[in-house]
Amino acid sequence: MIGIFGGTFDPIHIGHLRTALDVMQAVELEEVRFIPLHGAVHRDQPEVSARLRLQMVQAAIQEQEGFVVDDRELQRSGDSYSIDTLASLRRQWPERTLCLLMGMDAFNGFADWRRPNEILGLAHLIVMQRPGQENPSEPRVREILKSRQCFSHAQLHKQVNGAILMQTVTQLDISATRIRAMLADGQTPRYLLPDAVLQLIEDNQLYRMS
Ligand code: ATP
Repeated sequence: MIGIFGGTFDPIHIGHLRTALDVMQAVELEEVRFIPLHGAVHRDQPEVSARLRLQMVQAAIQEQEGFVVDDRELQRSGDSYSIDTLASLRRQWPERTLCLLMGMDAFNGFADWRRPNEILGLAHLIVMQRPGQENPSEPRVREILKSRQCFSHAQLHKQVNGAILMQTVTQLDISATRIRAMLADGQTPRYLLPDAVLQLIEDNQLYRMS
């Protein structure tokens, strides 16, 4: 079973890394593929170039077995839609089960994603609870969850796609927004992200007030 973790990663931080590791271990995923998006659809565009965000992800995950960086959305350019990414992964691995990882904030907007039903026809969803966001508040998303929720890891392995698992993860109240704000304020975000990522930020003078 492959985990797919898409995000802006602007920058990648411990909140992404620890929670992805929690899921990989709990659900027994063979790997987690980190896929930085090219063009954001439901949010502001990333502040830093695709090349540097990819480099930060690479630096962050290099020591963890099972973590893989995947640049397919950056190769494709334009807006990044999960349905296209999943279709491309499915073409590459017709036989493997795909699990799309996302935080609760992302899941809350799922009904407005492009072709949510087709996404569920290609993959399971694993939703990681974020501090202060234990359940989706969006009524259409609550409906989707009601008919699709599964309560055991075993179920994800039995079923090929279409199940939604709510996964408890280490609660880390860290966001890229807060890290960017600290850097713009001249504070250090040390210990909120890997040292290798901080080094890249400093070497390239990223997220400073212009
Ligand atoms: P920003 O603050 O810029 O919105 P972010 O920190 O939420 O960024 P993204 O790259 O947008 O990071 O997130 C990618 C995915 O990681 C999303 O599904 C998001 O919900 C999830 N995520 C981010 N931070 C955490 C965290 N601390 N705990 C659990 N999930 C997280």
